[in-house]
Amino acid sequence: MTVTKTDADRAPASWGLGDGQAIPWDYAPAPENREIVRLKDRYGLFIGGREVAASDDAVFTTVNPASEEPLAEVARGTAADMDRAVRAARLAFRRRWGGLPGRERAKYLFRIARILQERSREFAVLETMDSGKPIKESRDVDVPLAAAHFWYYAGWADKLDYAFPGRVARPLGVAGQIIPWNFPLLMLAWKIAPALAAGNTVVLKPASTTPLTALLFADVCRQADLPSGVVNIVTGPGEVGMSLVRHPGVNKVAFTGSTEIGRRIAAGLAGSNKALTLELGGKAANIVFDDAPLDQAVEGIVNGIYFNQGEVCCAGSRLLVQESVVQPLIDKLKDRLATIRVGDPLDKNTDVGAINSRAQLEKITELVASGVAEGAEIYQPACDLPDRGYFFRPTLFTNVAQSHRIAREEIFGPVLSVLTFRTPEEAVEKANNTPYGLSAGVWTEKGSRILAMVRRMKAGVVWANTFNRFDPTSPFGGYKESGYGREGGRHGLHAYVRLDDR
Ligand code: NDP
Repeated sequence: MTVTKTDADRAPASWGLGDGQAIPWDYAPAPENREIVRLKDRYGLFIGGREVAASDDAVFTTVNPASEEPLAEVARGTAADMDRAVRAARLAFRRRWGGLPGRERAKYLFRIARILQERSREFAVLETMDSGKPIKESRDVDVPLAAAHFWYYAGWADKLDYAFPGRVARPLGVAGQIIPWNFPLLMLAWKIAPALAAGNTVVLKPASTTPLTALLFADVCRQADLPSGVVNIVTGPGEVGMSLVRHPGVNKVAFTGSTEIGRRIAAGLAGSNKALTLELGGKAANIVFDDAPLDQAVEGIVNGIYFNQGEVCCAGSRLLVQESVVQPLIDKLKDRLATIRVGDPLDKNTDVGAINSRAQLEKITELVASGVAEGAEIYQPACDLPDRGYFFRPTLFTNVAQSHRIAREEIFGPVLSVLTFRTPEEAVEKANNTPYGLSAGVWTEKGSRILAMVRRMKAGVVWANTFNRFDPTSPFGGYKESGYGREGGRHGLHAYVRLDDR
């Protein structure tokens, strides 16, 4: 790869190397070897423990968003396939899994966790190829956390009596689960691990732009000797997801994705007695007080909005800064942005990879254009983007008004909107002035202020002096249009059980 010198390779003024002096070093290309992934030409559905073609033999192509090259053909499931999958899951629930003692279920979950760890590089490379996220994130975040979820819920499988003292926890039956494209394997783990630990069987529909790690997970299920039909994976378009939601053989629906589809799912289930959890969009406020350690805050802000190209439901997309520190903070942020490396997601030095799809890139581009048109001031570091693939520069908007679309709508891209405040009251009011309520961040050195802010903010998760920290033991979920129900921790198990009196 040729490294072209651009302004991005110039030292920021604050480094004291002299005006615009070139940085005296650069990164050598460090491409991850993709040979570890053995891509098949065609992937089928995973139903009843077997790989099968779609009922009408139809397929769709999944592409690498960083190069636009086709990766594989994938079965385009139909409502008839969904019906087959739900029947397989019901049968497995009735005949085997639903009656298996927790300690036996745990063995399978431990096995899956171990296999995910053993095959972690393969999963990381495949995830990066299919989704566009940087390899350092799939390798260090997505895959280890996915394995950690299986470890964690394996531990609960034989301890449900302790998870819900004084009650008897019974599985719900078949869980229909629909996941998005921003964390494909991790969202699979968030959904499947607690469901199986509690004794349910599942039918999962991955997003159409990122089906491959779910289909590789089917291979893990076989390797772990998981009884057939306990996990079923049906790829296909959104309508197929809706046929899963509406299927009478499904007892619980779990969805992560856009608020619009979440609303449709909730409406579709009205009047049924299916359990539902929804994890939807967000427009998180990341609040920096004037006593915060600014260098640390800059790292948290960058992690909050540029991690995974900002395609994160809990991304800190609205930065609220106390007026007295706005200028130094913006200066530091701009310096830091100049060092962010955008490019080949399979390069181990890449910080910001490819946007997941052309459609998502168009959405980001349109919203950024609206920010400029509405009068906000845009800053993007100079950097060369690859000629092919769906890339977008890390973007910072100042002079943003609460009424601007970029301050109100979920962009789901590497775009940060900066707003200011004077008092904690104003910060709380602005932070809560959104239809969403998934996450928030507070940066201050005062513990008492953290506690006071956390109590007043309408967000399911509030990070203090950090951002985007995830742990399987910790519940995650939203308020208002960010959805309801919690995933992770003991709360995450609760969504997959019926609690009876002893
Ligand atoms: P969607 O909500 O459409 O997709 C999420 C999942 O739902 C995918 O598996 C999708 O399948 C499936 N789906 C789509 N339509 C239906 C339906 N009618 N019934 C049941 N399932 C359905 O999100 P998009 O991919 O369209 O992204 C749009 C926006 O949503 C993003 O720009 C972002 O703002 C937000 N989003 C939020 C996420 C979050 O984590 N909260 C995750 C993803 C997106 P398929 O892929 O086949 O369409």
